[in-house]
Amino acid sequence: MRFDNRVALVTGAGRGIGSATAQRLANEGAAVAVADIDLEVAEETADAIRVSGGSAIAMACDVSRRSDVAAMVERTVSELGRLDILVTCAGLIRDNLVHKMTEDDWDLVIDTHLKGSFLCAQSAQAVMVAQKSGRIILISSTSALGNRGQANYSAAKMGIQGLARTLALELGRYQITCNVVAPGFIETRMTEATAARMGVSFEQLAEGFAATNPIPRTGKPDDVAGAIAFLASDDASYVTGQVLYVRGAP
Ligand code: NAP
Repeated sequence: MRFDNRVALVTGAGRGIGSATAQRLANEGAAVAVADIDLEVAEETADAIRVSGGSAIAMACDVSRRSDVAAMVERTVSELGRLDILVTCAGLIRDNLVHKMTEDDWDLVIDTHLKGSFLCAQSAQAVMVAQKSGRIILISSTSALGNRGQANYSAAKMGIQGLARTLALELGRYQITCNVVAPGFIETRMTEATAARMGVSFEQLAEGFAATNPIPRTGKPDDVAGAIAFLASDDASYVTGQVLYVRGAP
């Protein structure tokens, strides 16, 4: 029970990696604020946590809207008492080759991932600085290193790495760490959408990936949740500004 008496806030926690992370932190003792743009799926994750004996509240939040983010952090603190761990899993993709990418698809992806991570971290750090403790874990991707059809997503995900390093520099004096987890191919709705864009079945995409990956399988949301839990734990109290790739490969 590494997270007894801790409060965690996870965005994009209605599905995929965010949902697995919320459940992992709750299973290890955290009270969790489960946020998602879609309240219904946030409620499903919170229900699953409560059924397992954990403590959770659900809320709707569009992370690209400052007022939503402020309300989400305020509600977390007013209902759960404090904020120890922020994990920003909200995300979407709008892939296209650069010559066909629309400005709207550029803006949506940058606003959701990069601006959303900034807004969430900015709101959370105000609480954490006052507490003089905190863990911020932002989610990047192997696509930060460049990926065909993902100019918007790749730029956002590399931007998140710069954001995290800067937060680590500014917030270390308050015993707040900020790290990044950068997943590879994880089986979620997001990779289902990638398969659809490429015109292949999800199974074909997953098998193709597994055939060439050093650890020859795709990742599961729990693989990422485990890495996030480590960075949120006391074991990682002297680890900050780092990028941990969770991809079954160097
Ligand atoms: P997912 O299953 O689609 O979950 C993402 C959740 O975020 C969804 O519930 C989505 O809602 C929600 N969301 C979208 N826009 C939002 C917004 N503006 N505010 C709040 N919530 C919003 O995807 P996932 O694979 O778990 O992705 C989680 C994170 O991991 C993302 O940052 C993603 O970029 C990153 N990642 C994933 C992979 C992978 O292979 N799956 C690899 C590297 C990095 P809707 O479904 O309604 O849009």
